Amino acid sequence: MKAFLLDIDGTMMLGSEPLPGAVEFVRWLRAEGRPHLWLTNNTSRSRVAWLERLEAAGFEPRPHELYTSGDATVAFLGTLDPLPRVYLVGPAALHAEFEAAGVVLTDEDADTVVIAYDVELTYAKLRRAALLLQAGAAFYATHPDVTCPTPEGPIPDVGSFLALFETACGRRPRVLGKPEDTMVTGALERVGVAAADAVMVGDRLLTDIAMARSAGLTSCLVLSGVTSGEELVNAPIQPDEVCPSMIEVLAWAQRLSGSPAS
Ligand SMILES: [Mg+2]
Repeated sequence: MKAFLLDIDGTMMLGSEPLPGAVEFVRWLRAEGRPHLWLTNNTSRSRVAWLERLEAAGFEPRPHELYTSGDATVAFLGTLDPLPRVYLVGPAALHAEFEAAGVVLTDEDADTVVIAYDVELTYAKLRRAALLLQAGAAFYATHPDVTCPTPEGPIPDVGSFLALFETACGRRPRVLGKPEDTMVTGALERVGVAAADAVMVGDRLLTDIAMARSAGLTSCLVLSGVTSGEELVNAPIQPDEVCPSMIEVLAWAQRLSGSPAS
């Protein structure tokens, strides 16, 4: 176990608060000199806003330690030739981030639609995206999560938006965040280890754990987010390790690494 990829929502944080054991886990990683990467599908906020949020929660993140499905999407769009003209359904902060990274965004003559976690979604945006899709625009989504866990309960995320577009337009996108290759390849490059040397810790079977299993990472499911112990029993995707919270993940990691409890 050379490096840890850490999901944020439902794993390390719930809303703006750190979950029990999460801050201690990151402190242990730093003390051990083991690299980690914050790996989130949540494109409702920009990289800068994520780093501020992690800082406020007490994690002391460094910019290179954050990799979002927005980063994976920007990297993928940059490999296309010719470069796409993108209609982005996403919040203003994500628009600014994509443009700063060189993605051509347009409201008018787009040939590509990208759906992100738009917490500023309006009917006008739904209308524009649907008309572009019906006219044959290429179709991508930053991630497939149907809901996002919050302290008040799960709320609609990109996967729910995609169900709307499938109903309205009969189109399904290519997804670029977890659990897809685009995300795990970018993340492992960033953290500089092979898949076999990395551990993915997350709360969602269909993204975090599915990605770890298909790419050959060790997977650890925490039950502090969207997955219940009951759901896990009959699930087709099973993690290598299951922990109630990050408190037990820390104990598990310390056991595996032969490091005494701090
Ligand atoms: Mg999560």
